[in-house]
Amino acid sequence: MAERYLLNLVDGDWCPAESGQTRVNENPADPADRIGEFTESGGVDTDRAVDAAARAFPAWHALGPVARAERLAAASELLGRRAELFARAITREQGKLLREARAEVQRARSVLDFTLGQARTLGGVTAPAEEERVFACTFRRPLGVVGLISPWNFPLAIPMWKVAPALLSGCTAVLKPSPLTPLTAALLTELFHEAGVGDGVLNLVQGDAAAGQALVDNPAVRGVSFTGSLAVGTAIQTGGAARLLRTQLELGGKNAVVVLDDADLDRAVDAVVQGAFGQAGQRCSATSRAVVDVRVRDEFLDRLVRRVTALRVGPGDDPESQVGPLVSAARAEAALDAVAAARRAGGTVLCGGGPERRPGLPEGAYVRPTVVRDVARDSALAQEEVFGPVLAVLDADGFDDAVEVANSVRYGMSGTVFTASQSRAFEAVERLEAGMLHVNRPGTGAYAHLPHVGTKASQFGPPECSPQVWDFYTEWRSACIGY
Ligand code: NAD
Repeated sequence: MAERYLLNLVDGDWCPAESGQTRVNENPADPADRIGEFTESGGVDTDRAVDAAARAFPAWHALGPVARAERLAAASELLGRRAELFARAITREQGKLLREARAEVQRARSVLDFTLGQARTLGGVTAPAEEERVFACTFRRPLGVVGLISPWNFPLAIPMWKVAPALLSGCTAVLKPSPLTPLTAALLTELFHEAGVGDGVLNLVQGDAAAGQALVDNPAVRGVSFTGSLAVGTAIQTGGAARLLRTQLELGGKNAVVVLDDADLDRAVDAVVQGAFGQAGQRCSATSRAVVDVRVRDEFLDRLVRRVTALRVGPGDDPESQVGPLVSAARAEAALDAVAAARRAGGTVLCGGGPERRPGLPEGAYVRPTVVRDVARDSALAQEEVFGPVLAVLDADGFDDAVEVANSVRYGMSGTVFTASQSRAFEAVERLEAGMLHVNRPGTGAYAHLPHVGTKASQFGPPECSPQVWDFYTEWRSACIGY
């Protein structure tokens, strides 16, 4: 791996953190595979990157969206050529299956291309004037310097769906990725740098809370787009409130798939297996609750447990693996702790519930896909995000009860229903308290042109990945021009 990937990119220069501190990044499938020692930034490094972004802003803004899109198109082309390099880096440091990583690269490219296609639409409106010889209109102006703070679960797609609209809108940016996935972020930053966006337009600062917090505190940063946990998102929101920091927060989920008594059970089982155990359950829209009508519960569980027990857990680059490791040993331990707590609270573990260990498998962060039933509605497993391959099954008695159970959490990321009834499908879409809704399909996966959006504690501010995203990266102006 090239030495530069271990560093920050500030003002076009690859450079270490001022403190000289580093952090080791290892492969969660096999900790013996040491990926590298990445620079660990503090607030002072972030501040330098913000200064660089502020200096780069006037010229980048002056280019206008069409010229910016032309430069960014080169990044899309490069991403196409380097797709396999990205996919392998994602699998190596995040753990997901290679096919999941390839799909992530494709998604990142779709988001970039969709964003670029918006360049010629970033205008305002003309408005009626109240006086003679006045021309009235609105237009958008980029916010300025923005901080982009991303998690580890989609180490390419999430940074991409922040960087692409930030840069196209005319903002300059400092990307602060998760310290668990620094390599993918370095590859992404290099992509835009090589595409010719110019020094200081996109800066990369590797590190954790200290580096991220400095983006919230630095008065030159006009907006922070954050994806991560509710706790950190809340701290960013309250920390930035005193200086009216604009925020876009994409947070956690406790997503339900509702299986009604008229559902196609095979289809529902397929969707739950995919939604709960795809990417080892580490998606903000992962299915973490199955809310099943008691009339079909036993049959549903029978078919589900047969499927889940047969899933092969293993390294992401092994074509036989169906579930990869979690991102780290700590996350694997946390997932298993959640299962132990659910057992103590009266839950019955139908399958999984332990680490995956077998001859020949390295000592990685492997957790057996787990299904727990008899989960009390107010228990931690029913209410709190696990972010691992753990599915809670909750009983429901009919449609109204199922909707009530599905809605009885503080989160509202995705919501899904399986039913043969068109009217119940529409009613569920109307009543489920979730930002991304699905009927008779897995509860994960959104299109690049649809908003990535949640409600309640899952989201704050304008959504990402859609034309709505411009309401974060730009602000409106109105003009009344007398002539
Ligand atoms: P996290 O909140 O621990 O960290 C997210 C990012 O915030 C990291 O880059 C981290 O270094 C940074 N950070 C930590 N403390 C900070 C602080 N005080 N100030 C500024 N930045 C700080 O989350 P994670 O463990 O990386 O990711 C998992 C979480 O992300 C889950 O809760 C998941 O639901 C959520 N997530 C949400 C979405 C979505 O679109 N809603 C997508 C993916 C993940």
